[in-house]
Amino acid sequence: RKHKKKILDFNLQPSSQVFDESGYLHNPSQIFTFLPITYGCDNFCSYCVVPYTTGPQRSKPLRTILKEIEKIIQDGYKEIILLGQNVNSYGLDFGLKNGFEFLLQAIDENFQSSSIWIRFLTSHPKDMRASIVDSIKNSSLITHYFHLPIQSGSDSILAAMNRGYTRDQYLGVIKYIRQTLPDSGIGTDIIVGFPGETEADFLDTLHLVQEVQFDQAFTYIYSPRSGTAADQLPDHLPLAEKKKRLQVLNQNLTDIHQKKLMTWVGKKVQIMIDQIEGLNASGRTTNNQRIFLPNSNFFLGQVITVLVVKSLKGKLYGELVFS
Ligand code: SF4
Repeated sequence: RKHKKKILDFNLQPSSQVFDESGYLHNPSQIFTFLPITYGCDNFCSYCVVPYTTGPQRSKPLRTILKEIEKIIQDGYKEIILLGQNVNSYGLDFGLKNGFEFLLQAIDENFQSSSIWIRFLTSHPKDMRASIVDSIKNSSLITHYFHLPIQSGSDSILAAMNRGYTRDQYLGVIKYIRQTLPDSGIGTDIIVGFPGETEADFLDTLHLVQEVQFDQAFTYIYSPRSGTAADQLPDHLPLAEKKKRLQVLNQNLTDIHQKKLMTWVGKKVQIMIDQIEGLNASGRTTNNQRIFLPNSNFFLGQVITVLVVKSLKGKLYGELVFS
């Protein structure tokens, strides 16, 4: 993934140091912390080395997670990002089928009186269930943002990637999320130039992107990883072609993003301030949209209401309404 390009604002990418099997990432200069809930991965997507390097999935016991959340709140953090290669399969390794829903409900019951915001990363589309979305709907703490990596819009490429879902199944998940929680933000990851990806496969990805209208996206050029199944596949694409496809995809995503940002203008929304630099501040909504505004003696972690006044060059700007 050398040619990774971050095209939209998203500052929740974990660093490798969080993969310690207990505890959480201490980061006193930030208001958020990453709390790993699973380690390892059983999915063996054909392009990925993670299952070989991290081993099978191990879920952290529920009571450990609850204790750690208690400590995180005591330490003054305002936002927790539950972290796993596939949070939706939390608990499967100890035989719990709907473990992630169970965990979300337990967090909600135990910390309802706190004002902590809970996010989660990453959701594998094949394990995304209606009951997870329903649990989030019933929670006052879990925020409405879903990072669901589609990787490709082509069924044959999805099969070659060993992703375990079809394009239609993915679209069904998105439909359910948007019906149940209409204010949800939806982000994704997409790989272009997977071995054997034809022009028609790539067009399927472009069409899917238009259909879903993602709020955020990370895009990548496929780069072979030694020892993976995809590395053995025929028909690797020339780098120039992969770069061309990436550029086309990014242009599509940027156009969608600009249009989506315009729909925010005129809305009053809550944000939590998480960046202050002199006269400027910014924060994110619960559905992960960043809004910039003049600093008005804010403090990190402060939740304020802003009126979104303009969209400019891929960013939203707001004014304080009241705090
Ligand atoms: S891409 Fe994600 S889900 Fe697939 S094998 Fe790698 S870590 Fe696991």
